[in-house]
Amino acid sequence: MDSLARCLPNYFSILEGREKPKFHALKQFMVDFDPSDSFDQLWGQHESAMQNFRDEKNGSGNLTLLDLKIALAQRMLDSCILCERKCGTNRNAGQRGKCNVLEARISSEFLHYGEESELVPSYTIFFSGCTFQCVFCQNYDISQNASSGEHFQPQVIAELIDKKQARNVNWVGGDPTSNLPFILEVLAHTDTPMPQVWNSNMYLTVETMAILDGVIDVYLTDFKYGNSKCGQRFSKVDNYWEVITRNHSIARQQAEVIIRHLVMPNHVDCCSKPILDWIASNLENVRVNVMAQYRPMHQASEYPEINQPLKTLEFLEAKEHALALGLDLVE
Ligand SMILES: [Zn+2]
Repeated sequence: MDSLARCLPNYFSILEGREKPKFHALKQFMVDFDPSDSFDQLWGQHESAMQNFRDEKNGSGNLTLLDLKIALAQRMLDSCILCERKCGTNRNAGQRGKCNVLEARISSEFLHYGEESELVPSYTIFFSGCTFQCVFCQNYDISQNASSGEHFQPQVIAELIDKKQARNVNWVGGDPTSNLPFILEVLAHTDTPMPQVWNSNMYLTVETMAILDGVIDVYLTDFKYGNSKCGQRFSKVDNYWEVITRNHSIARQQAEVIIRHLVMPNHVDCCSKPILDWIASNLENVRVNVMAQYRPMHQASEYPEINQPLKTLEFLEAKEHALALGLDLVE
């Protein structure tokens, strides 16, 4: 069996019309709950509904499991815990947290032909704002400016999705995490049988990962650093390694996974190799894209060791390491 068939069987089943994307089943699974129930009650209902959903039991009630996820995701904004910064800002009261995102704003949306070949054409929806502050960000004008772009009603985006001749919907940014309630509302309005791709730095809380369970077909992740020190230095986040490895394990249990790793100058030993080793030891049947297109951008000039292009030899060292581990590499 080739790598694509081994790593992305459900994804290709959906493309071939033999299977529905996961979120379709959520919309058919009925749950009895009251959106005004307490946050803890809603979580309890979500846990038992997801158990029944996984066990393929029948649900009953007036609302759907997707409605329950929307209610929970909106409630999470009262004291925001969508990402692992857990800044606790009351976004429902109009306050901006660490990511600065308030309402979802879209900086661009188009059919992307530059993604991995198995994904293109990919209907890519770029949100403004990000949970990270990467000093070398190539899209910092969008990622670090959550007020850029335009806000749309979820129905409008759902209509755009339904009209697209794409192989998937690709939620990205910045990072999609801060926009979780909006994304779920879009899916409540769309019937497209396209796989849903979560294109993210994966700095999500376990609560956000639980909401995405049953929604996302393919996690398209950025695995940037092989330790938390580099994560703190370049993206200004705590506990990078613990959070990102945990979430990759959860993601692989829920769905199919394509991992991107951008090799950085002078970070092959501290970052690339530990990441590739961890993937080889902990995740089965995931696609891995070792990427060479690092360029010093944004504030990289303040960090001498990354203020230079990647050397070809450094890239080859990382790639050889991945090959030696027998990983399923994206060509
Ligand atoms: Zn490093």
